[in-house]
Amino acid sequence: MNSKYEIVVGLEVHAELSTETKIFCGCKNEFGAEVNTNVCPVCMGLPGTLPVLNEQVVEYAIKMGHALNCTINGTTKHDRKNYFYPDLPKAYQISQFDIPLCENGYLDVLVGDEVKRIGVTRIHIEEDAGKLIHDDAMGGSLADYNRCGVPLIEIVSEPDIRSADEAKAYLDTIHTTLLYLGISDAKMQEGSVRCDVNVSVRPVGSTEFGTRVEMKNVNSFSAAHRAINYEAARQIKVLESGGEIVQETRRWDDVKGVNVLLRSKEDAQDYRYFPDPDLLTFVVSDEKIAEIKASVPELPVAKTMRYMSEYKLSRADSELLALNKNTAAFFEAVIATGKCEPKSVSNWILGDIYKVLNERKCEITDLALTPANLAEMISLIEKKTISNAAGKTVLEIILDADKDPNEIVKEKGLAQVSDTGALNAIVEKVLANNEKAVADFKNGKTNVVGFLVGQCMKESRGKGNPAMLKDMVVAAIEKM
Ligand code: ADP
Ligand code: MG
Ligand code: ZN
Repeated sequence: MNSKYEIVVGLEVHAELSTETKIFCGCKNEFGAEVNTNVCPVCMGLPGTLPVLNEQVVEYAIKMGHALNCTINGTTKHDRKNYFYPDLPKAYQISQFDIPLCENGYLDVLVGDEVKRIGVTRIHIEEDAGKLIHDDAMGGSLADYNRCGVPLIEIVSEPDIRSADEAKAYLDTIHTTLLYLGISDAKMQEGSVRCDVNVSVRPVGSTEFGTRVEMKNVNSFSAAHRAINYEAARQIKVLESGGEIVQETRRWDDVKGVNVLLRSKEDAQDYRYFPDPDLLTFVVSDEKIAEIKASVPELPVAKTMRYMSEYKLSRADSELLALNKNTAAFFEAVIATGKCEPKSVSNWILGDIYKVLNERKCEITDLALTPANLAEMISLIEKKTISNAAGKTVLEIILDADKDPNEIVKEKGLAQVSDTGALNAIVEKVLANNEKAVADFKNGKTNVVGFLVGQCMKESRGKGNPAMLKDMVVAAIEKM
């Protein structure tokens, strides 16, 4: 990046909502169904049909509005956005123009260790279009209307984003927020979240924005990161060679890592927006808006910050725990038992348990493991009833069986030996068998103590209390 310039980015994110049925008809809202099976006269845009608004769509969108700190417009309407494309049988999309359901919000995201606040201009509801299937064998394109009328929210950000990293953090946070709220599958690979990326550059210190270019076909968040850096560099090159940036829409090609001109930018007036006469105004009561607000859970960024301050966990660990709603809930349930230290709970979840989740490609809630059993196991280690190694043995069992760790410890004889007499005998035996190490210790190589404690642990078949053994080894050598 040329350091004379600053990048300015604004993002438009479209997310499909995971409602049972479509936005204006009773057709099923499902991904992957056989082509043109989830269709009816309404979503195919046949003349004479009338749309009826699905209230769940409004509820889900208001949830997101609250999560992004927006004002909710209790009285709003639908507008027709007119354009022709073969995936849009009505030749207009029902959207919202001048009164979006939610507006004037913001989203706090973590970029490095800094909190960055990004303005959210608006969130409106609209219907998705169908899908064209390009088939060379047919010598043309086929239209699948299953996606026509699938509910979408469009989340438009202010041009507050100043780097590709900030854009990535914003998109990741939107993504986890959708999943936390349970309002979207948010699967990029199935196209249930898509984003348009607007980029401009300006000389550092300038207070005016440069001309923006909008990029389409950005199919993943990491692609957004690449696309932004590419486009900024392209614009800087144009400006540096005395050229001007033209407001246009470009298509990102992630395989080639370049973008190409698609069309010059259309303006709102080109769409000839007007209120949809079939739907008109809809009203959501203040009570309903408040009720939806109350149902919004603590969100990932807030959780991350709280884990850092309340539990003194690192930023990276806090974020990993908070990222997944199920993992976060599990972590908090273990803490709530009050039996063990948050730091050890975090270590076990992000260490041994994460490894299993990755291997099995499952969620923590898919395991038989309960917060109570994990808490009990960790507390047994903290009370020095069992060693860390024995803890791993217990974990292996409680991962797949709801069994009291105390019983497992009894059955398997895992309890740590803290009886001084028994440990003393082990220490004496080990020191007698390792004369060289003892001599090394006496000659100042005190780190051989680790080796000697290891030998003692082995001798005790893992049951010795390592902290006690260490003190006893040192004391015994010093007495020699
Ligand atoms: P359109 O439908 O024409 O794309 P929207 O208002 O829906 O218009 O979206 C405009 C997007 O472009 C917003 O995300 C906004 O933040 C962003 N944007 C506006 N001006 C600039 C600029 N100068 N540089 C970068 N992004 C911009
Ligand atoms: Mg746009
Ligand atoms: Zn339908």
